[in-house]
Amino acid sequence: MKRTFTCIVCPNGCEVEAEYEGTTVLSVTGNLCPKGKAYVTQELVDPRRTIATSVRVEGGSLPLTSVRLTKAIPKDRIFDVMAEINRQTLTAPVHIGDVVIADVLGLGSDVIVTKHIDRA
Ligand code: SF4
Repeated sequence: MKRTFTCIVCPNGCEVEAEYEGTTVLSVTGNLCPKGKAYVTQELVDPRRTIATSVRVEGGSLPLTSVRLTKAIPKDRIFDVMAEINRQTLTAPVHIGDVVIADVLGLGSDVIVTKHIDRA
């Protein structure tokens, strides 16, 4: 089978065409470096994504803080993890690096704060 991927590893965004059987990549073209083949293989075998979003903060100088995952998670668990994140409410102050959810849904990734919020 053939499929075209846009490599998201770097800003070049190469259009990588892959020929594959199941999860075995037979050939790739269009990638400017070996990371393109690794990306396509990962996408076929175990596609992963990270999340950057926001969480409510009570009593803070702003109503929201930004958060992100510490490691990419399986793409098909994004909505489950977003639901977990959306249930959270923090209390100011919050600090960069604070863990909002440790090992979210047992996926080996933490949700951490990326924006400091002082008390109001
Ligand atoms: S194939 Fe290499 S150069 Fe092209 S987008 Fe991916 S990482 Fe960047």
